[in-house]
Amino acid sequence: MYRTHTCGELRLENVNADVCLSGWVQKIRNLGAMTFIDLRDRYGITQLVVEETASEELKRQINGLGREFVIQVKGKVVERANKNHKIPTGDIEILLNEINVLSHSEIPPFTIEDNTDGGDEIRMKYRYLDLRRQMVRKNLELRHRMAHLVRNYLDTQHFMEVETPVLIKSTPEGARDFVVPSRMNQGQFYALPQSPQTFKQLLMVAGFDRYYQIVKCFRDEDLRADRQPEFTQIDCEMSFVEQQDVLRIFEGMVRHLFKEIKGIDIPELQRMTWHDAMEYYGCDKPDLRFDMKFVNLTVPAQTKDFTVFNSAEYVGAICAPGCASYTRKQLDELTEFVKRPQIGAKGLVYVKYNEDGTLKSSVDKFYNEEDLKNWAETCQAKPGDLLLILCGPKNKTLSQLCELRLEMGNRLGLRDKDVFKPLWVVDFPLLEWDEETQRFYAMHHPFTSPKPEDIDMMESNPGAVRANAYDMVINGVEVGGGSIRIHDNQLQQRMFKCLGFTPEQAEKQFGFLLNAFKYGAPPHGGIAFGFDRLVSMFAGLDSIRDTIAFPKNNSGRDVMIDSPSEISAEQFKELGIKLNP
Ligand code: ASP
Repeated sequence: MYRTHTCGELRLENVNADVCLSGWVQKIRNLGAMTFIDLRDRYGITQLVVEETASEELKRQINGLGREFVIQVKGKVVERANKNHKIPTGDIEILLNEINVLSHSEIPPFTIEDNTDGGDEIRMKYRYLDLRRQMVRKNLELRHRMAHLVRNYLDTQHFMEVETPVLIKSTPEGARDFVVPSRMNQGQFYALPQSPQTFKQLLMVAGFDRYYQIVKCFRDEDLRADRQPEFTQIDCEMSFVEQQDVLRIFEGMVRHLFKEIKGIDIPELQRMTWHDAMEYYGCDKPDLRFDMKFVNLTVPAQTKDFTVFNSAEYVGAICAPGCASYTRKQLDELTEFVKRPQIGAKGLVYVKYNEDGTLKSSVDKFYNEEDLKNWAETCQAKPGDLLLILCGPKNKTLSQLCELRLEMGNRLGLRDKDVFKPLWVVDFPLLEWDEETQRFYAMHHPFTSPKPEDIDMMESNPGAVRANAYDMVINGVEVGGGSIRIHDNQLQQRMFKCLGFTPEQAEKQFGFLLNAFKYGAPPHGGIAFGFDRLVSMFAGLDSIRDTIAFPKNNSGRDVMIDSPSEISAEQFKELGIKLNP
């Protein structure tokens, strides 16, 4: 038997017990008379002690130990004189009488403690050592718990987990595919799924009724903090449902997670149309932890001789509570912020609504107190507040205001990681116009159903058609999205036409799905959640990387196994791939 207990388990009530533990040596403190060792395993850390009176053999063994050796120890649980209240086992220690070295360790490249001396690169290279650190491991434990809760919840709702293939052909989620050459079909390639979209729809045609899968998806995109080339979705599909039904089930799932993991009761989720999200928050994933909704000041601002406002398509404001006391320097900082190339505003107009009721602005030359008062009232500002105003082409200005709003939220400490404000954003446009290629693209994917009342506009005014699609957004992050699907062959053909597919192209790429729809397709819809993102949100992390056991770096590399890597000439030959010289 390697152990009677784990390193996280022993307490005062175990005092006097003879125990056996196994684990890694985290730290050795030799104080001359006594030696202390921190022994670590997945469950915690237990302090071991070797006294001066210990046998020479034991002392010799202790001297031979180093960090990260794997040892088995036997001894007696004793109460500690100096208790450590920071760890659950801190009241006791093990008085050793036997040590067995199970495995030696070289000196690790960084210290395996919460406060490590290892930089990012080195920790990624030795990820298996990094994973020994409690703060890294605890994210994966959370991930495991969440996956378990999701499975349980969906099981109670009669969802069935079905595995779909990984070697498939292109799925239309709008990213680049990863491809895999086929040896048996030379010159042909599989694509890795960007999502199991088409398969889950086929499972509905198959009559499975409720499907889910916690599944890897692959998208060859440029990477950011919240993206990985392979990531995990909680992917779901249901038959005989309308939007209401899908929202209700998955709102339930997320509330279940909040309740079980965080002990938080999330009230019924607010629903906001995409149009309102854009108009009042300047983006389709509003952070509702704080207010500061945009106010349209175009009409009241275009009453005087100020050409900057008068020539603008849109003038919009946010009201920053309690910020009328901002100094020149603070206002300059904000101006610099909006003028940064990533944001691209030409300038920033402010109106201070002072505590004493007077108003002061950066456009006093053009507007009198009464004008400013009128704006302040339109914005429902109170004395002490500060209006920040941007203007220009509408869409551009809305997204600039969005950045400014988030910045103010940060400055005012209104984006607390322990506060969660989920909502549904609904009624997205079905199609998105791309200037560069001069054509429409599906905003979600080509199987998304238009809202029935908008179907008539598909040919006459495609840009105005709303989709029966929804996203779940939490704290400004899109955690999930889905739609009610087209289940009618004719409508699907019309959709492909809107997207500029010829019938032949549609047949070539999605013939299998169109064909399946000929044999009785139930009305269906579904959703997929970004599982890594959801976990990182629950863990309070900024990046999804630390929720993944073996993540890739920003260039899509796994620096631990050194992948991607070259393949041999032999492999190329087998695959029938000729390389250009
Ligand atoms: N397949 C979609 C996605 O990956 C989700 C869905 O429509 O269910 O975004």
